[in-house]
Amino acid sequence: MVFIVLNQGIIVKALSGFYYVKWQDKIIECRARGKLKKDNIKPVVGDKVEFGLISPTTGVIETIQERKNCLIRPSVANIDQLCLTFSAIDPLPDYLLMDRLTVLARKNSLEVTICITKIDLIDKGFLDYISQRFKDTGYTIIGISNKTLEGLDKLKEKLKGKITTLSGPSGAGKSSLINNINPQFKLAVASVSEKTKRGKHTTTFCQLLEVMENSFVVDTPGFTSLELTDFDIYELDKYFPEFIPYLNCRFTSCLHQKEEGCNIKTAVEKGLINPERYNSYLALLEEIRENSQE
Ligand code: GDP
Repeated sequence: MVFIVLNQGIIVKALSGFYYVKWQDKIIECRARGKLKKDNIKPVVGDKVEFGLISPTTGVIETIQERKNCLIRPSVANIDQLCLTFSAIDPLPDYLLMDRLTVLARKNSLEVTICITKIDLIDKGFLDYISQRFKDTGYTIIGISNKTLEGLDKLKEKLKGKITTLSGPSGAGKSSLINNINPQFKLAVASVSEKTKRGKHTTTFCQLLEVMENSFVVDTPGFTSLELTDFDIYELDKYFPEFIPYLNCRFTSCLHQKEEGCNIKTAVEKGLINPERYNSYLALLEEIRENSQE
């Protein structure tokens, strides 16, 4: 009987049936054991795996540890937090997209950090506006300049020891951020107009970049055009954390639209809930309703 010594690592890249596993200081190119396929388990980036070496640089994945979560499109497992990256200007923030991403994060029990980049180009009052908009959500808001490096240390602190996905539109400064956190990375940075001309980001695989020791960032253009599928219209309000103290409406089935005795509407009227966030709630509610009727 042959005993294989199993090592533990994390999949940092998946490409064409190969899985690249970070182990110690090395990247081991692995295949998945056929048994995993038979059991219909497909390893994904972020998976913590056990593998056996078949050469100093290649191996076979034998088992996958239970996942804390697994996002789809792109598939990434074990994410700790979603770091929304939106620029204050050029392009201007798409607030509905921001709110959509926070809902997705909450649904998957992810922490939310909101990075507002390009603060060197705007009046600092803008950050107060963002803080007001997300008041009582518990989300961390960090203003960052990739030019002066203001705010970068605060973000680094947030990334420590975690798997984070940086999500936000093209041109928001995600590549610049990663390059600034770890100058060893030299991701392509292009002007917003060049990016628009070039069209959509064409990366077809997703990978984890180890930006600091044991701290990974998901390098993917994904999570920007997410549809809210698999949502129940009655659960949406719970993913707006600032709504939670006001959810005891007269009707338990209240969707906070036009119902009598709705505490959420009253809280909006009293200025306790930000009206823009409430409007996003209504827009996303409509979208979920339409999706469920299709
Ligand atoms: P990505 O598409 O999100 O990866 O964005 P990039 O990092 O490629 O940045 C897009 C453009 O915005 C580039 O021209 C960057 O130089 C510029 N940029 C990024 N962050 C900042 C910032 O904080 N301040 C300023 N002034 N420009 C920035």
